[in-house]
Amino acid sequence: KKTIFSGIQPSGDLTLGNYLGAVKNWAALQDEYQCYYCVVDLHAITVRQDPAALRKRTLDVMSILIASGIDPEANVLYMQSHVSAHAELAWLLNCFTYMGELSRMTQFKEKSAKAGDNINAGLFTYPVLMAADILLYQADLVPVGVDQKQHLELTRDIAIRFNNIYGDVFTVPEPYIPRAGAKIMSLQEPEKKMSKSDENTNAFIALLDPPDVIARKLKRAVTDSDGEIRFAEEKPGVSNLLTIYSAITGKAMPECEKEFAGQGYGVLKQGVTDAVIAELEPLQKRYHEVRGDKAFLEKIMTENAEKAAYAARKTLSKVQRKIGLAPRR
Ligand code: ATP
Ligand code: MG
Repeated sequence: KKTIFSGIQPSGDLTLGNYLGAVKNWAALQDEYQCYYCVVDLHAITVRQDPAALRKRTLDVMSILIASGIDPEANVLYMQSHVSAHAELAWLLNCFTYMGELSRMTQFKEKSAKAGDNINAGLFTYPVLMAADILLYQADLVPVGVDQKQHLELTRDIAIRFNNIYGDVFTVPEPYIPRAGAKIMSLQEPEKKMSKSDENTNAFIALLDPPDVIARKLKRAVTDSDGEIRFAEEKPGVSNLLTIYSAITGKAMPECEKEFAGQGYGVLKQGVTDAVIAELEPLQKRYHEVRGDKAFLEKIMTENAEKAAYAARKTLSKVQRKIGLAPRR
């Protein structure tokens, strides 16, 4: 079986973008691949987090992943900070990554513009930790939204660079980007991607939003004034609603356009609202069951951290040996 790695930050409430761009596919891949799915809390602290809120959200995210259909016994579903090899390999890879490469990352540019006086070194080396996450498990495929494509390319460059010096140590991973719903945009500023860390909660649909909140946020979604329902670059708001509809229903874009052609934006918004609520209802129900079972969550996290640590240790030891670090007996 080929290996898959993917991660998600406990940096806010998971959004419809996270779900359609990433998590929904994670569950679909679990039968065919050996999957490592990680709640990347070390990445989340590149932005200042309130300790109590972070602790709680970590379990919320874990529960959402399970509620989305990821089987925590068949896959390795774990917390990044529970496996110290992530931080260790990240340091080593820092020494094989150039400042110039990291300066070109658009996520760093975007996030540092919003970071106030907290433009910390972790925000800058974020993609190196991500490379470590992926390369530790010799992942063949990495399911991500298109916003992470640039980071994945850097991961590949680092792996190839390392392999050129030391021989074949790392599997060079490929991105696995889903056909539909790869990038869901903000409901308020549809030129920007939907982000769970957006301060404006009207900009995103959280997976745990109740139906009335979902309806209200979609009603307020920014569109345009030409009144025509079609998918076009100059119509980012309407196109985003169509993208959400297409990703949830599985219908191709031309079919979605035809379904709503000649109707008002109110009809489109209602159609999207119904589709989103129907998709999220069962997920929310399962979420509350899982989230309430603390003993189960703790057991899952402990067992899976051990499995992940075992696999990660193998790669880390090999890297240490190749670099010339003295082996510990
Ligand atoms: P943050 O704003 O804190 O960076 P985020 O919403 O971008 O949060 P991440 O934890 O950074 O979420 O990313 C988790 C996964 O969700 C990644 O695979 C990423 O590609 C995907 N993803 C994030 N935002 C979107 C989006 N708007 N559309 C589709 N996929 C997305
Ligand atoms: Mg992000």
